[in-house]
Amino acid sequence: MTSHKLASTRIPPLSPEDAEFFSAARLRAAMLQPYLASAVFSLVPVVQPEYGTFGVDRWWRVYVDMNRAREWGVAATAAVILHEAHHVVRDHHGRADRIGVQQDQARLWNLAGDAAINDDLVEDGLPLPSPVLPKHLGLQTGQLEETYFRQLVRHAENEQCESCGSGSGGTPLETEIDQEPDPSNPQGSQGVDQVEAQAIRRAVAHDVVAAQGSNQNPSPGLVLWAQDLLNPQVPWQNLLRSALGSSVRAITSRPHADWARADRRADSQPEFLRPGSRHHRPQVAVVIDTSASMSVPLLNAAVTEINAMLQRCGVHDLLVVVCDSAATPPQRVRRIGQLTLRGGGGTDLRVGIASAAACRPSPNIIVVLTDGLTPWPESAPPKTQLIAVVIGNQAPLPEGAGITSLRIRELE
Ligand SMILES: [Zn+2]
Repeated sequence: MTSHKLASTRIPPLSPEDAEFFSAARLRAAMLQPYLASAVFSLVPVVQPEYGTFGVDRWWRVYVDMNRAREWGVAATAAVILHEAHHVVRDHHGRADRIGVQQDQARLWNLAGDAAINDDLVEDGLPLPSPVLPKHLGLQTGQLEETYFRQLVRHAENEQCESCGSGSGGTPLETEIDQEPDPSNPQGSQGVDQVEAQAIRRAVAHDVVAAQGSNQNPSPGLVLWAQDLLNPQVPWQNLLRSALGSSVRAITSRPHADWARADRRADSQPEFLRPGSRHHRPQVAVVIDTSASMSVPLLNAAVTEINAMLQRCGVHDLLVVVCDSAATPPQRVRRIGQLTLRGGGGTDLRVGIASAAACRPSPNIIVVLTDGLTPWPESAPPKTQLIAVVIGNQAPLPEGAGITSLRIRELE
């Protein structure tokens, strides 16, 4: 059967028996994770006999094999409904696009999403039928989807996955309805469009945050996701400017060994301290992560911003180290056009940070631009301030002595 047959028709309602069973399971799902209720009740069921399982498309339509659901029973079906709701709430479809999952990697992304979801659900004691868990894939529990995906790509032999549909960011089901929902047309295809989906995600995020500390106990990963969605965004240029600005001020105002020389002059001009003197001009190095998920326009925009900011402070060239799992030789750049970005593959920015710190004159400030999927040093190199600029939401911010961390969103 092709999707075109279904595309022009309204989704047929479930039979009374199916509807009764689905409603019971859906209600159970909403009671198990009340903070997900607005998502669970927004799912549009589409009967899919012989499918063997459930799946979800990017428009929040769940494809349901009701015979299989009856075999599972209400409790397990409720867990499966929650699984599908997590796919669309966590926007696995959009996140796959954003990190550039290729078509032939869609199954691995699907597996990564399943592992991240099931990890939380099983932890909550939900009876999922034969769930894929991180440990089955040789992965650590409690990681983000993007982290799992990268690890799976590295060991790409895990291919035993059934697709959960386009809503998981996986391969669309053959019978998926390819028509977008049209809220203005009651005869059109039902489903949840992007605007409505974002409103539901915000409602869920509020409920997740509110449920913290209650006996509902949403998983830490889900709480992080919710906080991130709700936090008002400060333009990233402001964040970067303020972090860099305070590091530069800390350096230009720091007493320097050469004040011995200034002392002699201080006899005649006691209050003339010349904080802008050459000795106190900061040396700044930028370490750029060029692993596969970093977008070149964003990197360019970030480096341009750093450059402009430093020029205003009288620093006219930047030392740039481009790094994935190895570091390229440091390049001294005056203009952004001079920068060559190469790379791809795994990331270990400790190598790039060490290489920047070893330059002479040694930098006082090292700015790192990264997606954060890298090991970090425990502290900044000696006499150096490390500003970690983590782009996107894939990884936690590093901590340690001399390290300032900030997160900026993907460029709109
Ligand atoms: Zn799934």
